Amino acid sequence: GLDAAAKIANVFGAGMKEEVVHAVDDVSLAVYPGEVVGLVGESGCGKSTLGRMAVGLHSMTFGTRWWKGEEIDKFAPAIRRRKQLGIQMIFQDPYASLNPRMRVHDIVGEAPVTHGMVSASEQKDYVEGLLQRVGLDPAMLRRFPHQFSGGQRARVGIARALAVKPEFLICDEAVAALDVSIQAQVLNLFIRLRDEMNLTYLFISHDLGVVKHLSDRVVIMYLGRVVESAPASEVFACANHPYTVALLTSAPKLEVKKIEFMAVHGEIPSPLNPPTGCHFHPRCPHAMPRCSAERPILKEIAPQHFSACHLNG
Ligand code: SF4
Ligand code: MG
Repeated sequence: GLDAAAKIANVFGAGMKEEVVHAVDDVSLAVYPGEVVGLVGESGCGKSTLGRMAVGLHSMTFGTRWWKGEEIDKFAPAIRRRKQLGIQMIFQDPYASLNPRMRVHDIVGEAPVTHGMVSASEQKDYVEGLLQRVGLDPAMLRRFPHQFSGGQRARVGIARALAVKPEFLICDEAVAALDVSIQAQVLNLFIRLRDEMNLTYLFISHDLGVVKHLSDRVVIMYLGRVVESAPASEVFACANHPYTVALLTSAPKLEVKKIEFMAVHGEIPSPLNPPTGCHFHPRCPHAMPRCSAERPILKEIAPQHFSACHLNG
């Protein structure tokens, strides 16, 4: 359900009830201006699908996307595209999303000129300024993607997203492909950019260590549903949901994150045929008969701290 907060926030409710695969099942998520929300879960939990829905890259069988108080999908495509330039997505693999035959000048500078934000004569200065902002030498603007390191390509991807003056960045595993030392640098860049440009982030990651670094609020998903949502400090200090607790006890420190991070007991069930009741019940150490029969709903167990578990009554 969407509440009155939708009027001031970037809100979307999403679901795919009609689909065979319930990648995202009846999820509502509001991200407030200036907030950094970390969206965490194992692969296949639907977090990427949710991110793609938020930016309009993935259709919903039901639900509503709100952006700055407007139901964005009600607008004609051309108007919608312009309105939602303020929402940009940054992907895990910048190499795959950067055209190998385009120079950085065009990769970064094309969209702002197309959308009339910058004139053709201003384009070069504009791109140089963006490269500088993301910590790249502006002299690199004649280069092609293959002439950059992985970390530099991540910065090019960020510069491209920033080029259309976004307010809300959806980052899907934006540092997952990078070496750990480079990850920390790029995360610091995200934090600096948020402060300098008043950005709002939805930061999608399988890695609680990454999210801990920069989130104000953390949302945990399991098999297409939100199981817990709380201020970041509270998630790390007093997690409520048994799945979150399991994630926390199996999460390595950022420095050693190359170690496979999911040590939660048992296999992830197939999203094609999720367990009944609480999806987590086959893996949960606290499962009771009710857990396989009845879906737990999200309850506010402390201010702004929501959890979907029958242990809360
Ligand atoms: Fe475990 Fe039951 Fe809570 Fe699900 S509802 S997390 S199975 S105790
Ligand atoms: Mg993913």
